[in-house]
Amino acid sequence: MTHVRRGDGRLSHDLLPGEAPPQDECGVFGVWAPGEEVARLTYFGIYALQHRGQESAGIATSNGEQLLVYKDMGLVSQVFDDQTLSALQGHIAVGHVRYATTGASAWENAQPTLGPAGAGTVALGHNGNLTNTRRLMELVRERSGTDLSGELGRGSSTDTAVITALLAGTAGEDARSLEATAMSVLPLLEGAFSLVFMDEHSLYAARDPHGFRPLVLGRLQRGWAIASETAALDIVGATFVREIEPGELVVIDEDGLRSQHFAKPSPRGCVFEYVYLARPDTQIAGRSVNAARSEMGRVLAREHPVDADLVIPTPDSGTPAAIGYAQESGIPFAQGLVKNAYVGRTFIQPTDTIRQLGIKLKLNPLREVIAGKRLVVVDDSIVRGNTQRALVRMLREAGAAEIHVRISSPPVKWPCFYGIDFATRAELIANGMSIEEIRASLGADSLGYISTDGMIEATAVPRARLCTACFTGEYPVPVEDAESAAERRDYQVLPPRHPGSLTIAGAQ
Ligand code: SF4
Repeated sequence: MTHVRRGDGRLSHDLLPGEAPPQDECGVFGVWAPGEEVARLTYFGIYALQHRGQESAGIATSNGEQLLVYKDMGLVSQVFDDQTLSALQGHIAVGHVRYATTGASAWENAQPTLGPAGAGTVALGHNGNLTNTRRLMELVRERSGTDLSGELGRGSSTDTAVITALLAGTAGEDARSLEATAMSVLPLLEGAFSLVFMDEHSLYAARDPHGFRPLVLGRLQRGWAIASETAALDIVGATFVREIEPGELVVIDEDGLRSQHFAKPSPRGCVFEYVYLARPDTQIAGRSVNAARSEMGRVLAREHPVDADLVIPTPDSGTPAAIGYAQESGIPFAQGLVKNAYVGRTFIQPTDTIRQLGIKLKLNPLREVIAGKRLVVVDDSIVRGNTQRALVRMLREAGAAEIHVRISSPPVKWPCFYGIDFATRAELIANGMSIEEIRASLGADSLGYISTDGMIEATAVPRARLCTACFTGEYPVPVEDAESAAERRDYQVLPPRHPGSLTIAGAQ
């Protein structure tokens, strides 16, 4: 298959080139639907989850006898075309979009991963990040010696490849079903994992006992779908049935759907999914993400009122909270910035000169709206502060009289070890600076962050069922691999260099 060198899609990542917002590690999707074009359903499923990972995309299918997988670096729309999707035949599929936090951003680490499993093959997609990968790797080496096969042997360095290797089972267990092996392997994993995986006959979904990352089950007319977010179910016409429960393994095959628990649930869902990561049209734990964000804006208006003429959002992620702030304060809402919405679709690599345009490449101020006005600018979070600094400068140049920055999450002070990539701790602007120092650094007239209690109240989820570690430093799961996790951003982003692979798993 000819390989066309593709743009890396990196213009779509961030408002300010090189200033990435918090990145979710991945999005996963699975479907079991005889008689449906499962690869196409999965394509639209992962397309709907593109915001969860933009570095690589992949789909595996099974026709009951063999697995096929196709994956490559790039956006979903860049990786797949009609011809590729037509080749991916079968009635079971899993799909994945990836942003690298563990392992380099390279083809070897794209997912779904492939490996042997009992008498067949497993293809697996993972959202989250394990915190005991080193210990698990020792277990893999105990089982297979130094001669690593499968994805690890082919150079993958991810925690996902380690899970895939463990699902191969041990020597005496070759005939065990993947279901039985999964029930013995899943309790060994620590940290965050929302998994979809498959063998030739069955689709599987599993979620860690804390349920850090979302994972939901949907019903299709002729089958089932699993997705990171309910919005992806909506887009493929699946009806939301329920969440995959923390600590649950679900198996779907020709005998129907069966469920079992591999661990006692202890829910600690990621609060940042409500703040920024998930799509606004997604529901998590029965709460609309959009409603939670608007409520955060209302709380913010009560906690940090200000005399102003207009409330404007940072597009697009600040919009629901800005609407909430405007509703609560009575200050009119306006679009003061227009986003260059399709720039992320370009396959052209930006030159250095274009990169230097910075935020202007993504946002254009509406001068007639902004000039002479006292603005409340609402954004969801501040990581390094460079984006907000550039934004304040742009708004002043457009004639704003005053700029009051309001943030719908508390200061981010701690790294995440459960699948979200912020800056390193040293790069976090709130780590070591007071609010007043941050305000001065941004050049704003005032700055207000929502309180932790206010943010939690807006989610309508009890505090004891949420992870808030990046704001509070209270980690629900001890981080055994903290050192390696802290170093994990030390990777180089490589240009795409392999052709997409169409693999017949039996030939591995
Ligand atoms: S540390 Fe923050 S981003 Fe990570 S899971 Fe917890 S709340 Fe979410």
